[in-house]
Amino acid sequence: MDRYERVPIREENREERIEKFALIDQPYTLEEAVLEGQRCLECAMPYCVQGCPITQDCRGYNILVGQRDFDGAAKLTLRENPLATVLCKTCYHFCEDDCIMAGRGVPIAIRHLKRAALDFGKSDLLYVPSKRKEERVAVIGAGPAGLMAAWDLAIRGHPVTIFEHEEFLGGQINTIPRYHLDPDDLDTDLARWRNLDITFVVGKKAGTDYSPKSLLAEGYEAVLVAIGASKPRELGVPGEELPGVYHALPFLLAMNKRPEGILGRHGRKIVVIGAGDVALDAARSARRLAQGGEVQLVYRRGPKDMKATEEEKSGGEIEGVRYVFYRSPKQIVGTDHVEGLVVQRTEHGPPDAKGRRTLQVVPGSDETIDCDMVIVAVGEVADVSGFDPDYDFKFASMGWPEGKREDWMTDVEGVFATGGRSVVHAMGAGERAAAAIDRYLAKKHGREPERRPDPFGGPTPPPEIPPGYGGATWTP
Ligand SMILES: Cc1cc2nc3c(=O)[nH]c(=O)nc-3n(C[C@H](O)[C@H](O)[C@H](O)COP(=O)(O)OP(=O)(O)OC[C@H]3O[C@@H](n4cnc5c(N)ncnc54)[C@H](O)[C@@H]3O)c2cc1C
Repeated sequence: MDRYERVPIREENREERIEKFALIDQPYTLEEAVLEGQRCLECAMPYCVQGCPITQDCRGYNILVGQRDFDGAAKLTLRENPLATVLCKTCYHFCEDDCIMAGRGVPIAIRHLKRAALDFGKSDLLYVPSKRKEERVAVIGAGPAGLMAAWDLAIRGHPVTIFEHEEFLGGQINTIPRYHLDPDDLDTDLARWRNLDITFVVGKKAGTDYSPKSLLAEGYEAVLVAIGASKPRELGVPGEELPGVYHALPFLLAMNKRPEGILGRHGRKIVVIGAGDVALDAARSARRLAQGGEVQLVYRRGPKDMKATEEEKSGGEIEGVRYVFYRSPKQIVGTDHVEGLVVQRTEHGPPDAKGRRTLQVVPGSDETIDCDMVIVAVGEVADVSGFDPDYDFKFASMGWPEGKREDWMTDVEGVFATGGRSVVHAMGAGERAAAAIDRYLAKKHGREPERRPDPFGGPTPPPEIPPGYGGATWTP
């Protein structure tokens, strides 16, 4: 096989896939994985590793798969990535964008090789905590940021308690549609954590049942707030309260967790408002829901302005989502249920003072799109109701609260806050916050800060960067 061609990833049949929620990407066979692994150029300077928010040694596992050492590849994958079963199907693979083969042909299928490593290697390993430290840490929020922070701190020997508002763990991972992720993948990952000193307290909300300050008063020496941004942003038009109007996150969560709440009452003519990945997930899920019906995605700008990844946009096209551009929602109409969406045409106006293209509504251009269900997917904000203003969070552009200091500490000593824009970014943020908390506690107790130990109990900490890599200014 030509080194510049990727071993194809088989996909679920295009015609049949909208009839079900089965995984679209099919796994490599063992021989396919070996061939794809052998395409890796084994770069001295692995940009793939540099591009990964948790600096996974992806070059390392590519090479091991190419050498048929699947056990080694699985162990290397799990060394830095405690949510690898989730990420091998859902990661937006920033490593592949940075792979040197991307400029010469098609990047190595790094995410798919991670999946092969776990499929064919010994992946039912158990993480091992290092010598117990006495300082207890509380983590609020069991999304990928909170889970990664808890894992990192527990590997370092801290007893950790995670407090979660929902009855289940994983945060927004639970809204990822089942054509991208199997429902039990997160449990497969968490099964490797069972020897770690992590206690899960679910169904308890910070701001109502407890607060970071009350946890400090209970004896936790540090608290990480990792609550993400999961409160739907309102569209702010009349009719948003009508039955038949859903917001994307509760809709997608219901599709995965409580489909009986939606099935049977769903629409046949569904409109999704928005143009990011979440809007596409909602539209593609709606397509599967409205068997034989139609799904339109309404966006006030044009195709080039859509924030969704190419993978999601083309997925929507293949599955028959109809894109309606340059239309801005004005009102949702109906008597006791949604009957239509009134939109206005938009067009580009003169650039504003900063040179950005403006958008203006065309007067008298109202039209009504006939529909019986509307899904609003225009972003999320954090719910910090009940939190003391003393923390003085800053908010990331995508909504989650962060500590203002460089180490993510808030204005309240010992309380940190972070989050991230994708699963792996949130994990990277959680990992950095955990390291900062460990440094803070080491200083407070007169210890030298330490590197994260080998999570499988080996005698030396794994290298922070893989051997052969000398940093951004390194030249061979
Ligand atoms: C529909 C959808 C699809 C996505 N698909 C992908 C994908 O394919 N790949 C990818 O990489 N990323 C994807 N993402 C993005 C990714 O899921 C998020 O970036 C990531 O989950 C953010 O992690 P987090 O830990 O910062 O926040 P969250 O995942 O939001 O977790 C925060 C947790 O805190 C809890 N919480 C909130 N408030 C409180 C409180 N007051 N008290 C206690 N607990 C609280 C929440 O219940 C939640 O469990 C998707 C997101 C959505 C919505």
